[in-house]
Amino acid sequence: MQTLAILGSTGSIGTSALEIVAQYPDRLQVSALAAGNNRELLLQQAAYFRPALISIASEADAQWLRQQIDIPVYSGENGLLEVACERDATLVLAALVGSAGIAPTLAAINETKDIALANKETLVAGGALVMQRAQQAGVTIFPVDSEHSAIFQCLEGQRSEDVSHIILTASGGALRQLPLSELEKATVHEALRHPNWNMGRKVTIDSATMMNKGLELIEARWLFNVHPDQLDVVIHPESIIHSLVEYRDGSFLAHLGRPSMKIPLAYAFFHPERHPVGVEKLRLHELATLHFEAPDLQRYPCLHLAQQVMRQPDSAAAVLNSANEVAVDAFLQGKITFVRIAHIVEAVLSAHRPTALESLEHLMNLDMQSRLAAEAEVTR
Ligand code: MG
Repeated sequence: MQTLAILGSTGSIGTSALEIVAQYPDRLQVSALAAGNNRELLLQQAAYFRPALISIASEADAQWLRQQIDIPVYSGENGLLEVACERDATLVLAALVGSAGIAPTLAAINETKDIALANKETLVAGGALVMQRAQQAGVTIFPVDSEHSAIFQCLEGQRSEDVSHIILTASGGALRQLPLSELEKATVHEALRHPNWNMGRKVTIDSATMMNKGLELIEARWLFNVHPDQLDVVIHPESIIHSLVEYRDGSFLAHLGRPSMKIPLAYAFFHPERHPVGVEKLRLHELATLHFEAPDLQRYPCLHLAQQVMRQPDSAAAVLNSANEVAVDAFLQGKITFVRIAHIVEAVLSAHRPTALESLEHLMNLDMQSRLAAEAEVTR
């Protein structure tokens, strides 16, 4: 029996995870749930799964929930820590959006809980710190990102010295075929129209800028302990190959499947077993062809920024991540154009002198400073 604590239970990852739990009640149970602001859905989830405790972002929503259900309800950052450290949880699904996920994930690691990691910011911003703590605590981090789960699976049973390159596939996002001259006018609606994946708004915009792939490169560097020169990106519009590992004998191992987050989630929940989770069968002859192309860095300046940051001391990645969150949020609110996302991140990065990150406090300070700097750029 695996007992889950879920950070981000009402988002797209959290709800997919709970569908799997509902499908396998004799194998999976839930001991704690944390949500952002969807109190009605959190209430439904709590009534159905009966966790030991739940948490929601605002105290007002927590008060409302306390009147509806006889389960302890927490709120705010403290609530996230309560969920992450819930006593009976054996696996914490870290599926919050943004840097809010870092502190609770670190807390869960300190409590020696295994992590199913869907919050990429945790490794992008705090990679060295988090991997070091995970190693000390002896916990396993199962990536719940389609690319990293694919790589994790392609690496299992292999020797690290045989790995030549890790190749992440990218769909190219919603604006891949828009003429460069029209990117300036791209609307929020257009940028949110992802060809293959149904995801949250932040990650869908990151996919359109390919910052998502940049963040994933940085994440892969830490998760798999490889040199930046060993990491490549290829655009693969069909999103059927989720990533590949190239070995020094010339072999490539690839992971293929339908684009469904249930596959990496189930892999993390049942490892090393595999169980069906209702994903439609993939018929290769129906696909017929798969396409690949090199990313055009002029179209995707955010990817280029991330590739540079990956080679710098780790504070730079934290700054990149925080500035990008602010810029994407501003785009989603209609405050800036699509192309300014990259300009804002670049401006904040150029004012930063990269150093090694010493502690969570250092990281949190840097996060706050970078957000302020990015907000100043937004209103400029
Ligand atoms: Mg991904």
